[in-house]
Amino acid sequence: MGAIMSCSKNSQFMGEAVSNEELEQVDCYVDLHLHLDGSLSVNMVKQLASEQGIDLPYSDAEIAHKLQVDDGCNDLNEYLTKFDFPNRFLQSEAGLSRTVELLGYELSEQGVMYAEVRFAPQKHCEQGLTQNLVVSAAISGAQKSPIPLTLILCCMRGDDNHAENVETVNVAAEFLGKGVGAVDLAGAEAIFSTANFRDIFALATEKGVPFTIHAGEACGPESVYKALEYGAKRIGHGVRSTEDARLMERLAKEGIVLECCPTSNLNTAIYDSLAEYPYRKFFDAGVKFTINTDNMSVSNTTIKREFIKLNEVFGITRAELKELLTNAINAAYVSEEMKKTMRGKLIN
Ligand SMILES: [Zn+2]
Repeated sequence: MGAIMSCSKNSQFMGEAVSNEELEQVDCYVDLHLHLDGSLSVNMVKQLASEQGIDLPYSDAEIAHKLQVDDGCNDLNEYLTKFDFPNRFLQSEAGLSRTVELLGYELSEQGVMYAEVRFAPQKHCEQGLTQNLVVSAAISGAQKSPIPLTLILCCMRGDDNHAENVETVNVAAEFLGKGVGAVDLAGAEAIFSTANFRDIFALATEKGVPFTIHAGEACGPESVYKALEYGAKRIGHGVRSTEDARLMERLAKEGIVLECCPTSNLNTAIYDSLAEYPYRKFFDAGVKFTINTDNMSVSNTTIKREFIKLNEVFGITRAELKELLTNAINAAYVSEEMKKTMRGKLIN
């Protein structure tokens, strides 16, 4: 079953609300913003530990606790501490390849037809791998996935890793179109400002590597302005753009796509409740946005759950569902031919 069901061919149904049951059935979701190390399920961790001979003396509940934030999470900095535990399983070629493959299977079961999986190669070099080997291994895992996956390589915010970030852009250029679609900038936005990373995106531009930048999440509109100045056409989160009417107009006019991740923004305390989420604000302002998971295990979510939660608060219409999925397809780092194929799956 497709996303909009057969009745979507008839425009009179497009203003109708979509039911949660229908959202459960959709099998053509697209997730453009999903971190590999934040999306290992308990089952994946158990399987990876056994394959890698790592002792895991924990119950399922204890593993889940190590992977997920609880309700007391205060901000993005605290949220980011949850990435330490899963990263120990992602330090070998076999581990990386297997994780990407297993993730592809889980996404497929959740009704995702295409996903862009991001990770920072420099975080997987603790046991001797080079960034090049890390990315090659992840690509081999993606090739075994039942759904197409494109990799996004994250540069990391920090003040002592410029050389590593430069290497990430160079590796992305080497594998561009061969499994890798873009680079990103991730990490503690409130500590290491987007303004410090001009060189990295100048290099990406010079090498012809597209990029998305996490901005307007922990920091406000100034961070989004910087990302736009560097040439980003997609913004990770970007939700705090709503604080600046001029910025909202610019996003709409330039067709910049926001990769929104509602539950993650609740975890990092940008909003107290989903009712505050700018879902209608973006539609009303004509700002293109997409719905994504960010970190399936850290935020204990799936793409389906994100849509269902939004539906319960805002009442998603058929037309909106189609628009959100179309925005994601149009912004994906894939060929026009593949976009056409995916658009065809929205109605069937
Ligand atoms: Zn993110």
